[in-house]
Order: sequence, then C-alpha cells, then structure tokens
Amino acid sequence: MKKSTVNLALRICKRYFFYLISEKWNRNRYELYQDEQLKKVVRHAASNVPYYRELFKQIKLDPDRFRGREDMHTIPLLDKDTLRTRQKEFIADDAAKYGINWDSTSGSTGTPLHLIIDNSTKAHKLAAVLRAYQWAGYVPGKRTFSIQSYTFENPKAIAKRYPAANLWRFNSKLLKEDTALEILTMINDIQPHVMIGYPFSILMISQFAQRKGTQIHPVESIITAGETLSERRRQLLEEAYRCSVHDFFSHHEDVAVISECRHKRKHIFESFAYNEVVDDHDNLSASGAGRLVGTGFYNYAMPLIRYNIGDNVVFDPGNSQCPCGSKFRMVREIVGRQNDYLETPDGRFLGNVLEHAVDNARGVRLSQCVQDAVDHIYINMIVDETFSEESIKAFEQGLRLRLGNEIRIDFKVVEQLEKTKSGKTPFIMSKIGHNYM
Ligand SMILES: [Zn+2]
Repeated sequence: MKKSTVNLALRICKRYFFYLISEKWNRNRYELYQDEQLKKVVRHAASNVPYYRELFKQIKLDPDRFRGREDMHTIPLLDKDTLRTRQKEFIADDAAKYGINWDSTSGSTGTPLHLIIDNSTKAHKLAAVLRAYQWAGYVPGKRTFSIQSYTFENPKAIAKRYPAANLWRFNSKLLKEDTALEILTMINDIQPHVMIGYPFSILMISQFAQRKGTQIHPVESIITAGETLSERRRQLLEEAYRCSVHDFFSHHEDVAVISECRHKRKHIFESFAYNEVVDDHDNLSASGAGRLVGTGFYNYAMPLIRYNIGDNVVFDPGNSQCPCGSKFRMVREIVGRQNDYLETPDGRFLGNVLEHAVDNARGVRLSQCVQDAVDHIYINMIVDETFSEESIKAFEQGLRLRLGNEIRIDFKVVEQLEKTKSGKTPFIMSKIGHNYM
C-alpha cells in the first residue's frame, strides 16, 4: 500500500474518533470549540489569504480582537460568484504546506467552480462521512452498492468493483432502460447490504424491476445523497427496497455536513464547520429557516468564511435532544437543490450530473438547461467578457458527452434565467412530462 494512502487512512481514523467524541459534547463545549476555530481561521486568513487581507482592511476587522461567533455578522457573506471570479485570491500564500488537492464543481446553479481541499479537510470530510454513514448502518467492509456520477478509466464501463472495500460503484450517467436491467441483475447477484447514491437513480432501478415483474434484492439501508429527497421519494424507496432510508447532505466546498441518524433526525456536524441560517436580507434568520451559510474549520489552503452554500434549510427551533444521543443540532428540513431531470431520446434520465458539462465553458457565469421536447434542449447563459464561440463549443462538447448526439441543442445568451412557477431558478428545467417520480 502506498505511503500516502496509509497516511490518509491514519488521518481519517484519528478524525473519525474526534467526531465520535465531539458529537456528545455539551452546548458550552461546542461554543468554545467553534469560537476557537473561528478565531484561528480568521487570523490565518487575515495574514495569508489575499482576498481576506483586503476585505478585513476594508471592513476594519482587527483579527486579534475577533471573538468568534458573536463577531461573525461583521464579515459579509461570500457568494459562489465571488469565489469563482476571484478564485486565486482565496488561495493562501502558504497553501502548499497544507496539501493541495484540486476539486471541481458546478453546484446546483450551473456555475463552474474550482477549489482546493487541503489534506486535513479531506481527512475530516471522509471521517465525517464515515460517521454519518455509520448512523445509517454502514461499516467499512459491508457489501455496498453505490450509484453516483462516477468517472472510470474506461468511460464505457457501467460498473467497477473495489474488492478491498467490498464496494461496487455504478455510473449513474449511463443509467437507461437496458443498463437498468443489467444493473438490476448485478444487484440481485451481489446482494448488497447498503445502497448509496442519487435517490432518483436508485428509484429508477426499482421501477424498472417493477415494470419487468422482477424481484429486487432488499437491502438493510439506503443512504441518499446529491439530490433533495422528497418525502414521496423516501416512501417509494422504503417500499421498493424494504429498508430504512437515510438522507445525507454535503457539498464540494466542504463547509457543511448534515446527516440522518438512526432516528431519522437530521444532524448538522458542528465540529466540522460553523453554520448559520440567513434570511433574504442576509441577516441571521430569527425563525431558523433560510439560506445555509458555512465557515469551514480546517481548509487552511483555501479558507471560506461565511460561504453562502445556496441551499435553503429549516433548523429545528430550541435545543430539543435526539434519542440517538448525538448532541449535534437538528435540521428539520433541507429544502434546496430541487432539480428537474432531462430525458434523452435514447431513454435515459439525467439529473444534476449534467452540471459538469459547463466546467470548461469559459466566461459562462450562470447557465440553465431547458428541455422543451424529447429531442430538443436549449441553454440559457449569462456570460462575461471572456465568453466566446469557443466557450459554446466546449459547453456543447460537455453536453454531448452526456446526452449523446440525438438531441438538438441551442444556446442563448440572456440577461436573466427562467424561473419556475414557485420562483426557483433551477439549473435543469423540464417542460415535458416525466414517467418517473
Ligand atoms: Zn439523532
């Protein structure tokens, strides 16, 4: 085994025990810890991160007098657009000493974003994920089936087996009628104990099984991630797989982790990041409902302070305790991230995997994909001065990789993206009916 892999495994282990212990802290201990971490991040950012050096000067923030939670409101919120356009200014002068791992995301708004996640944050995230999955009945080595947007060495491969982890991964981008049957057969062969992945993909497999009159192997639990889980979908999944469903929320920027415990309550990992909920005026929400904002404690290579995650949540009011014993605060609902789906002429359904299509389209600030016929989509784009014909070519190439060549694609430069009736501006908007919930 490579030395770097062993080091990462050791780092994850150490942090895993940290989460095991810190989830039982009392309120006072969390507050002390959060204040300490916030002070450290703010001081580090003030000395080493160009964006914050300038911002703190502008707002006259003295890092030595910064007290933590109670002074957080003095720092303006950071949005994705600022992070994207001024990305280099967020990289700490001494980033190399923390380890540089690049990560890309387009999030639910279709804005491409490239980030550094340092070694410590990577280990913290994996440890938090491990702890969260354990709440759902997963332990390392348990036979697991995962369906998400993976990229394998062989781009045509539907699945890849990882024998050491007892894990099978399936590429959700290739899920369609004939591959669904193949996947179904494999599931019945593998007989996994745990399923992890996009709720829509997992549900589609069971619906294919139902239509074909084939039994599907029941599992112990399903951990859903990457898409908002509606109550209806949860119920359908529980019925189809005769198991309990646990929803998991995290994102590439690594400033929040929320997961459901065995009592199906959502807990936010308070020793991973400091999270706030703000209203439409960027003030702390009095009701606990609003946009989720996060400050990561550990990413010193590229610290994000008061980052506007872009998902709406509702925090549980008061300090009610969960019978599971975890003292992490509870989140009643994650409202955001409701994307629609595209249907391809060859019968595939694609959700937020499409977002990465925009990754190489230079100058596209915001984009939106609208389907108005099975064989036609158009892309609304808000662009900046670096946008050119080349950007469209790169965007189309990204889309073709995922959608194939049968669908017609048009591109429009617009001032504003289209909104749904409920006022949301989704990245994917479908104006044709769906056969699947
Ligand atoms: Zn709980």
